[in-house]
Amino acid sequence: MATVSGKMITRYAPSPTGGLHVGSVRTALFNYLAAKKYGGEMILRIEDTDRERSKKEYEKDILEAMEWLGLSYSSMYRQSERGSVYEKHVQKLLDTGSAYESTEDKDGKQSTVIRFKNAGKRVTFADLLRGDISFDTTELGDFVIARAKNDPLYHLAVVIDDFESGVTHVIRGEDHISNTPRQILIQEALGAPRPIYVHIPLVLAPDRSKLSKRHGAMPVGEYKALGYLPEALLNFLALLGWSPQGLSLPGREGKGGDIFTLKELTEAFSFDHLQKSGAVFDIEKLNWINGEHIRRMEDAAFMEKVREFLPKEATQLPQYGAERLEKIAPILRERIAKFSDLELLRKGGELAYFFEAPEYVSKKALIWKNEAEENTIQHITHIVKLLTEIPDESFTQETVKGGIWDYATEKGRGAVLWPMRYALSGLDKSPDPFALAEVFGKDETIQRLTTALKTLQS
Ligand code: GLU
Repeated sequence: MATVSGKMITRYAPSPTGGLHVGSVRTALFNYLAAKKYGGEMILRIEDTDRERSKKEYEKDILEAMEWLGLSYSSMYRQSERGSVYEKHVQKLLDTGSAYESTEDKDGKQSTVIRFKNAGKRVTFADLLRGDISFDTTELGDFVIARAKNDPLYHLAVVIDDFESGVTHVIRGEDHISNTPRQILIQEALGAPRPIYVHIPLVLAPDRSKLSKRHGAMPVGEYKALGYLPEALLNFLALLGWSPQGLSLPGREGKGGDIFTLKELTEAFSFDHLQKSGAVFDIEKLNWINGEHIRRMEDAAFMEKVREFLPKEATQLPQYGAERLEKIAPILRERIAKFSDLELLRKGGELAYFFEAPEYVSKKALIWKNEAEENTIQHITHIVKLLTEIPDESFTQETVKGGIWDYATEKGRGAVLWPMRYALSGLDKSPDPFALAEVFGKDETIQRLTTALKTLQS
């Protein structure tokens, strides 16, 4: 565990060369959490020295994702705008003989590059997660560090920027371990202090191969478009490679162990709980976590999302209205893992009956197992009678259940409640008939039961 003296400064340093993927977001999250937890700050650095592959649209994705996720940073800069900063340091490397200009033949063309004068020593650094890591740098030779004094390559730019920004902790993916020795050589030549290194395990597919779209991994914007919640995505990513196990968290006594807000993650975060082994991406776990966050949303925020994602077809149905939508909200909340599941519900026919009377596929469908048709007619008739006795203003799940329960118990719950539920929804599977009755209200409930009755009597 690092003891932090002075202010902790972390940095998230994405390259805008492609869609922002979940592994990268997790790196951002850990940098954010560490800085917040220890009263430090996180810098966002756009690493766009590769002019060919860097695109403004990817930078835009990164900035939008950070905003959506609520991962705030103290300052932001682009490497492409720091030519003069780099020039100063490159000049120093040239002056001290740590680097030299070399004119080389590349694809038949002469060009000048700047190479690092590598003494080829052994570099050992302490990684907070992995302990001492040692490399022989002989094989690296005199590697190229810049195309020109104001035009550094990746390794040099990283070192200069970390130095200039006072970065104390470099938290990044373990794919950067092999870059570290080169960067340390440059640091030493510049007289820059060595930051603390934390190389976090990569995010892997369930079969431990490289994570791809096939495993449900997508650029961040797509999670947003599918109706995942930013806090749920962060919660999920935090648990990839970090575990709250054994932590006793103030205020969380008795609460589930896996669900965290960003604030709670910050409070709980510690380097001690980072794991070394590769973390497996499991979309089912993300869906579960997202569903849990949905169930914890404030009503108003939940409704806003429902209105945003509700399929247009549903809003065009005859009984669609704001009030009905509010009433079905608790039912929807239990049935979705992400807001785009509303479209899946619609496709599965599980949305329309809320806003229009169902059609029954057959008489048989209204009848419970081997119950006789006459008995079913009798049950529905009696339910209608019992419901009529409940005053309009107190027509709730509880009163409906209270009114019918004894009769259902006496005649057989399946025999009585199946036709009631089927009459209301027209589906084999749907919420219980009491909840549905409350949603539809007394008149509509009786109306649908009456239609079912006529179907049976026809
Ligand atoms: N720009 C590098 C990347 O996107 C990160 C460099 C670093 O964190 O040192 O992988």
